[in-house]
Amino acid sequence: MNYRISQRAASLSPSLTLVIDSKAKQMKAEGQDVVGFGAGEPDFDTPQHIKDACAKALADGFTKYTPAAGIPELRQAIADKHQRENGLTYKPSQIIVSCGGKHSCYNVILATCQEGDEVIIPAPYWLSYPEMVKLAGAKPVIIETSDKTEFKVTPAQLHAAITPRTRLFVLNSPSNPTGSVYTPEETKALGDICVEKGVLIMSDEIYEHLLYDGATVKSVASFSQAHYDHTIIVHGFAKAWSMTGWRLGWCAAPEPIAKAIDAVQSHSTSNPTSFAQKGAVAALTGPQDHLPKWLAEFSKRRTYAFNKLNSIPGITCVNAKGAFYLFPNISQTGLKSAEFCARLLEQEKVAAVPGIAFGADDYIRLSYATGMANIEKGLARIENFCKGLKK
Ligand SMILES: *Cc1c(COP(=O)(O)O)cnc(C)c1O
Repeated sequence: MNYRISQRAASLSPSLTLVIDSKAKQMKAEGQDVVGFGAGEPDFDTPQHIKDACAKALADGFTKYTPAAGIPELRQAIADKHQRENGLTYKPSQIIVSCGGKHSCYNVILATCQEGDEVIIPAPYWLSYPEMVKLAGAKPVIIETSDKTEFKVTPAQLHAAITPRTRLFVLNSPSNPTGSVYTPEETKALGDICVEKGVLIMSDEIYEHLLYDGATVKSVASFSQAHYDHTIIVHGFAKAWSMTGWRLGWCAAPEPIAKAIDAVQSHSTSNPTSFAQKGAVAALTGPQDHLPKWLAEFSKRRTYAFNKLNSIPGITCVNAKGAFYLFPNISQTGLKSAEFCARLLEQEKVAAVPGIAFGADDYIRLSYATGMANIEKGLARIENFCKGLKK
């Protein structure tokens, strides 16, 4: 049989982060002593009160379809969160709950982009953005950045990349994969350009709460009514509440866009899992005391890893003020990222994600969402690996 795969599906690159992660997990299952820096998820358990709320919903028989856009209670709780924490007023009808932040991104792109449109994505980027844009039939336009600017795109770069075809600008701060964070002033400057040029902004704020060294963020939607009107916020429960497996995220959008996203979702996944949504209500309305503890632990690991990485010959690393990743530069080793990571896994049994997956071949991504003992062991192995490289 000659199975013709659709052009859209055939145009996709597989998710390299998931590939490396599953290879490392497989090696572990075979009994090999693998240290994994590949994780894109916190290593902490979901807080108990969230699990309890979900278990109760299940026990109570809350197991049927809900409205496609989510239960009113959760949409209200999300609207309240944006009012309370971001000073942003959304009606529940502007909030669409989806099956993960990734799903929310995809819905936003599908609802706003089409053939002939361009979507500006700064690199290093979360690897799914360009693929989602291609699935929508639109064209990803990549702006390169480097560690010299802490991986931040400048207003001049954004300005130069905009054409009459530009539909959407993707902003992700704090960033996966680099952990870099735009200051409120930098965020506003980029937002100003989009407003001036009539470009929509998809602001992926999923790492909003994971900040270090006193860094602060301000949603691009919050600078003026015009900024609000141009912005679609994407957010979710995966990172700050460690609910990756629950598959719950949301977007907050101007009313007509929210309506379109609701329609897209109603014909694809329908509602996100009913009883999981009850857990999400508890996540937003319950205690948040887990977060300072997690942040203290993440920050300790980050500082250790940052110092250690910069002591390794061939590696330089800028510090990250958010998320749970470092994005060291490996160009002085003479290896490109895919070979570096393949040999590192082979020789030292350390799993890291090659930067090429994020559009940045001189770097690798290390997640410190793993225990301190692992981090110490893994970085010692990376040091050993680099010392053994013949130039
Ligand atoms: C983790 C992540 C998301 C959302 O992940 P889900 O598991 O789908 O909720 C969205 N954007 C970025 C940049 C992420 O790293």
